[in-house]
Amino acid sequence: MAQISLTFPDGNAREYDAGVTPAEVAESISRSLSKKAISATVDGRHWDLQWPIEADAGIAINTMADRAPALELVRHDLAHIMARAVQEIWPDVKVTIGPVIENGWYYDFDRAEPFTPEDLGAIEKKMKEIINKRDPVRTEVWERDVAIKYYEDRGEPYKVELIEAIPGDEPLRMYWHGDWQDLCRGPHLQHTGQVPADAFKLMSVAGAYWRGDSSRAMLQRIYGVAFPNKEELKAHLHMLEEAAKRDHRKLGREMDLFHMQEEAPGQVFWHPNGWTIYTTLQDYMRRKQRAGGYKEINTPQVVDRKLWEKSGHWDKYQHHMFIVEVDESRDGEEDDASVKNKAETRINALKPMNCPCHVQVYNQGLKSYRDLPLRLAEFGSCNRFEPSGALHGIMRVRGFTQDDAHIFCTEEQIQQECARFIEFTADIYRELGFESFEIAFATRPEKRVGTEESWDYVEGALENAIKAVGRDYRLEPGDGAFYGPKLDFYLTDAIGRVWQCGTFQVDPNLPERLDATYIAADGAKHRPFMLHRATLGSFERFIGILIENWEGKLPFWLAPRQVVVASIISEADDYVHEVVAALTAAGVRAEADVRNEKINYKVREHSVGKVPVILAVGAREVEERTATLRRLGEKQTSVVALDDLVRDLAAEATPPDLRGA
Ligand SMILES: [Zn+2]
Ligand SMILES: [Zn+2]
Repeated sequence: MAQISLTFPDGNAREYDAGVTPAEVAESISRSLSKKAISATVDGRHWDLQWPIEADAGIAINTMADRAPALELVRHDLAHIMARAVQEIWPDVKVTIGPVIENGWYYDFDRAEPFTPEDLGAIEKKMKEIINKRDPVRTEVWERDVAIKYYEDRGEPYKVELIEAIPGDEPLRMYWHGDWQDLCRGPHLQHTGQVPADAFKLMSVAGAYWRGDSSRAMLQRIYGVAFPNKEELKAHLHMLEEAAKRDHRKLGREMDLFHMQEEAPGQVFWHPNGWTIYTTLQDYMRRKQRAGGYKEINTPQVVDRKLWEKSGHWDKYQHHMFIVEVDESRDGEEDDASVKNKAETRINALKPMNCPCHVQVYNQGLKSYRDLPLRLAEFGSCNRFEPSGALHGIMRVRGFTQDDAHIFCTEEQIQQECARFIEFTADIYRELGFESFEIAFATRPEKRVGTEESWDYVEGALENAIKAVGRDYRLEPGDGAFYGPKLDFYLTDAIGRVWQCGTFQVDPNLPERLDATYIAADGAKHRPFMLHRATLGSFERFIGILIENWEGKLPFWLAPRQVVVASIISEADDYVHEVVAALTAAGVRAEADVRNEKINYKVREHSVGKVPVILAVGAREVEERTATLRRLGEKQTSVVALDDLVRDLAAEATPPDLRGA
């Protein structure tokens, strides 16, 4: 028999018969490894223990200690085990597909009656039985027609359709978990007992169309989560509970910040409270940008397709753009504006991004090297089409405003501008309550334009800039745009979730497409580089992150309603209004609550509204010109003199960038 040579991670090689399986390889090393083995990695490919190896290769035997393959297998095996459990309980249910997803898996079933929460409990119990049986996992390769006949005989039309959609005549792989069989590419674990029985949970059921096609059958999708151990499952479930408590959509209602409605999907109706957060944040960003050497501009919403063709967006980005057709021959008097004179109709798009418009501003008038770097900022209102299923509160929307800016500069200025931007961004994150963040550095992709020298130069500039400001980065090789590398900035919130917010991207391409130039010191025309950059990303999403991070209890300066002055007795009403007036004059957002309600009722209600400070005033406070101060979430109160109150709360209401040293 032919021999092959397998090389292990430690560099040692051993000879085996061709066709040896990783299970046999593990057995040849040690009994304990063969028991612990879950899969192998063969020349970088995830490999089932039962699959034969026919040629020389590098091999590593995986165990549960190898996190990535372990998680993939556990979740994937659980998908099969769940489908088996469902068919053991309800043999008439038809099975379809069940992929691994983030944190777990799902499986789609065709069953007339809906699965209830009790059903999920029963399925989970059955799954644990299957795991405890330690049933072997077995695999075979079948001819296509055999597989089709098998599923036809068993009344599994979805599986037949899946097989028919697989191109060519290639044989198909089958997997058995005990006696239960499924069509699957694999790999899988050795036996069901390798799945930790206490580290998974079925989460929910949702409707899902077969193949995502709304004209096909509506199936029931059961979601599960799974981890390598019980502790991680617990931590995950705790995080979900915390996330639900902090959900910005729920807090948005309780704090009366915004709403959304069917007539404008993915667009936010900001209420006075929410708009106060928005404008406070925007005013803050405007001051930061001005101090950071940016010039603010504003550019049109509705822009002719010709510009989008030149910028390349019409080709690459059209399906995300809102198209607006305008009949220019219209005299403004017709009854029906939807009737169009085709020859005179101009096709526009709502801008999905600001970049091409910023080049238009740059291109007005001759630029010299002395004008560079030129930093043009815009609170750019953009619209992008997102499928309705992808929308999520104010976090994922169709209409949003970026804290966008483009820096036009020379190649030599990239490093300094990058360093400057990292410090600018770090300062803002810190002032907004995020002490640490991570930078991901995405470098040249396989498909790219530009010379190797220029990629070397620009990547070097970014790396030097990160080092110059004393930061670290995580490398994401090959993830840059086809024209240049980029940095992405990731924030971690109070419950450990990570959000990508800032970005810094080097672009020599758009200035080329839109013919931006400057006159260099040598008197000749040169192309500037364009640096796309944002710190928050979009105001909508960032406010969602702030709300969830702080569980609605925003820092005082950002809180939309900062102080409620509440009367305990109606004789205090005049004094309440006096206190409100004094606070308002000092720049504090204060309001009166002189309703004829018990003070405890008022405190409860304003706590739900996340008002950070409640001042209660009764006879004694009127008499002594004080107020009883209670902070959100605290039990104890303190009596403070009016003058001190106004001074202290005014200081607290001052945005961080305006506080004196
Ligand atoms: Zn599978
Ligand atoms: Zn841009």
